[in-house]
Amino acid sequence: MIVVLKKDPDEGQLNNLTNWLQGLGISIHRSEGEQSLILGLVGDTSVVDMELIRSLDIVEDVKRIQEPYKNANRKFHPMDSVIDVSGIKIGGGHFQIIAGPCSVETEAQMCGVAADVKAAGATILRGGAFKPRTSPYSFQGLGGNGIKLLLEAAKQSGMPVVTEIMDISQLKYFDDVDMIQVGARNMQNFELLKEMGHTGKPILLKRGLANTIEELLMSVEYIMAGGNENVVLCERGIRTFETATRNTLDISAVPVLKKKTHLPVIVDPSHASGRYDLVKPLALAATAAGCDGLMIEVHNDPQHALCDGAQSLTPKKFADVAKAVFALRPFAMTSEELNAQ
Ligand code: PEP
Ligand code: MN
Repeated sequence: MIVVLKKDPDEGQLNNLTNWLQGLGISIHRSEGEQSLILGLVGDTSVVDMELIRSLDIVEDVKRIQEPYKNANRKFHPMDSVIDVSGIKIGGGHFQIIAGPCSVETEAQMCGVAADVKAAGATILRGGAFKPRTSPYSFQGLGGNGIKLLLEAAKQSGMPVVTEIMDISQLKYFDDVDMIQVGARNMQNFELLKEMGHTGKPILLKRGLANTIEELLMSVEYIMAGGNENVVLCERGIRTFETATRNTLDISAVPVLKKKTHLPVIVDPSHASGRYDLVKPLALAATAAGCDGLMIEVHNDPQHALCDGAQSLTPKKFADVAKAVFALRPFAMTSEELNAQ
């Protein structure tokens, strides 16, 4: 349920209302817009008398909302959320490119790629240390040592980092990590999501290989219900019958998500296609559709990469993609345009 209040409501009456609702076991999510103050009621709202609330002087309107995700719902929070990753803002018109190798391999590789992608306009560095590999015989990542190398590259380049967590037991390595990634394979690892709700860090939640948009929003709800509202969503391609690409980029997920949620939405054209030659067209399509950023895999020597070389760009190719993306940005759909339709 959402309660839209009249402009400048009487503070005393507002306190009475919120105290009464909290007494009924309802938690309240406040969203201050330019024109109005909105209260999002989370919990068992069947005990709340809607008509009684509507009759109050300070109340403009009351609506029941159907969607099972509350905190992430744009109806609760009409303005775009802006997520701050150690000073780098995503959402609400702030567009960022996250770039770096699939996996952290060596210090020279990480530091070299970091400097190159930063020079080309990337603002957040990626690199996997705990890798979810299909085969147990493939390179599994450098673990805690990988995070150390990633943080060294971050220090040298002056960029914040994002890296993937696969299990709660790994959290001890993430103290100095700026943003934690929950990957596609863990999108419905509910215990991990609950734990992410208790970290104060921004979370990058990737859509599962075979999950619907609503399931993605329910997963983000786990994180937000735990008290962490700093979440960025990532469309990274889904499984379809098509075999020409590793996955199929669901480009419509961008406008659909941006209508349903106030959270920023980024796109990963690397995992979506599995092919370096498709990264540029998909990155441009996602940018035009109004995403809030991109995540792109870049490797200094893709042919010898320990993971995902086929989809990795060289720093030179990345610079070309970034330039084209930044040139397109002024023509991209904005959140306001998407939501006005
Ligand atoms: C990754 O970003 O390194 C990764 C493994 O991606 P996904 O979870 O989307 O497969
Ligand atoms: Mn990868």
